[in-house]
Amino acid sequence: MLRGALKRCVSGIHFEKGEFVLPVKKDDSFAAVQKQLERIVNMLNLEPAVYQILKEPRRVVVVSFQVEMDDGSVKTFTGYRSQHNNVLGPYKGGIRFHPDVYFEEVKALSVWMTMKCAVVGSPFGGGKGGVTVDPRKLSKRELEKLSRAYIRAIANNIGSEKDIPAPDVYTNAQIMAWMADEYSKVKGYNDLGVVTGKPLSMGGSVGRNEATASGVMITIREAAATLGIKLPEAKVAVQGYGNAGSILATLIAAHGSSIVAVADSSGAAYNPAGMDPKELLLYKKETGSVVGFPGSQKLTTDEFFAVDCDIMVPAALENQINAERAATIKAKIVAEAANGPTTPEGDAVLTERGILMIPDILCNAGGVTVSYFEWVQNNYSYYWTAEEVAERLENTMVCSFKEVYDLYTDQCKCQTEPLSMRDGAYMLAVTRLAEAMRIRGWLGHS
Ligand code: NAD
Repeated sequence: MLRGALKRCVSGIHFEKGEFVLPVKKDDSFAAVQKQLERIVNMLNLEPAVYQILKEPRRVVVVSFQVEMDDGSVKTFTGYRSQHNNVLGPYKGGIRFHPDVYFEEVKALSVWMTMKCAVVGSPFGGGKGGVTVDPRKLSKRELEKLSRAYIRAIANNIGSEKDIPAPDVYTNAQIMAWMADEYSKVKGYNDLGVVTGKPLSMGGSVGRNEATASGVMITIREAAATLGIKLPEAKVAVQGYGNAGSILATLIAAHGSSIVAVADSSGAAYNPAGMDPKELLLYKKETGSVVGFPGSQKLTTDEFFAVDCDIMVPAALENQINAERAATIKAKIVAEAANGPTTPEGDAVLTERGILMIPDILCNAGGVTVSYFEWVQNNYSYYWTAEEVAERLENTMVCSFKEVYDLYTDQCKCQTEPLSMRDGAYMLAVTRLAEAMRIRGWLGHS
């Protein structure tokens, strides 16, 4: 009876050997981040309880909900919200609409959010959500219904003091507006701070739309200065031409760098003479892809990662740079605009080859930083200028880059195994989280 009810309630769950089993796809991002946390806790000689607490999210909500489609049929969708750790503040993290969204992925993404907020000192914990859906196949009306239904389903688990969603892959400011509106209707009062990345007319912050790319740009600038790379002479490749990737391409081109390759879900476009990022965006808007951009040559994903460039920016999805691709990368800097774009094996190859990798939990933290600013402005109902936002973002990113880089270079001198900047970022984050958990009495008395 219960079995049947739950099956109807949460699609994808099945019953096996006396237990309910959640749908798990073959992707080891979550296992990999657990391993990384254990390694860092051991290296720093922290209490074992630190790893015990950080190795699993505190709560993962799985919901199913129905949407009436334009043709009158009713479809059931599965949604998730993972709340990893809230020792530093309310859970915070994006919502992804993608056909590949699943339980373990959302869990891994929520751990990365905990680490990211700790690295840049945003007073938030880590959360992440998603719905398994291809939003490109929905009409606008269906997309709005789906966004509202998902928020109703998780309404009791979120709130501006509890858990604050934001945009991620295939979600945007309009979707955030529908979500904040629906949540406010459920609660019976306006709670604009429940979601960040909203449009300006609904309590959004100036600078939020371009914040992720602006933060990536600042970390690339700092890394390039460290390595003595001149941005006006640099060749750049960007995988993913959405919010993060396309804005980053425009920002770095404004520094004089040349965009030699870009990729999206349909393939890659390459032109060693460089491509205009704004023209690329117009072309993608018209045709649906960057592939076939005038003057460019089409590349496979493997060929894309092997192009001759100085800076490689993965800005799409997880697990794009594996060991084989890492071995062919010609760039001196890999800037992780995406979350989790490098596999642990890819990481090891980049480290061994001496390529400076700016890790996701630092590189793309501009998004959550300006989300934090948006939340502060919503709480105060007092809004900042573009200059104030840009100055605060600049300070946060420059200071965080320096803290991570200095810790990484210091630790390289005292640890026996080879380290990457990712290790430095995790060390900084885990130290801060452990300190907060210790003082709150979460770590016991051993
Ligand atoms: P988006 O939906 O705006 O763009 C995603 C882009 O990736 C699209 O161009 C799409 O075509 C491309 N893509 C999808 N599948 C691909 C594939 N298999 N190969 C190549 N390209 C593919 O999403 P976004 O907000 O720009 O997010 C991109 C990455 O940045 C994600 O990893 C996300 O978690 C991360 N991120 C985003 C933000 C933010 O504020 N938007 C903040 C931090 C991190």
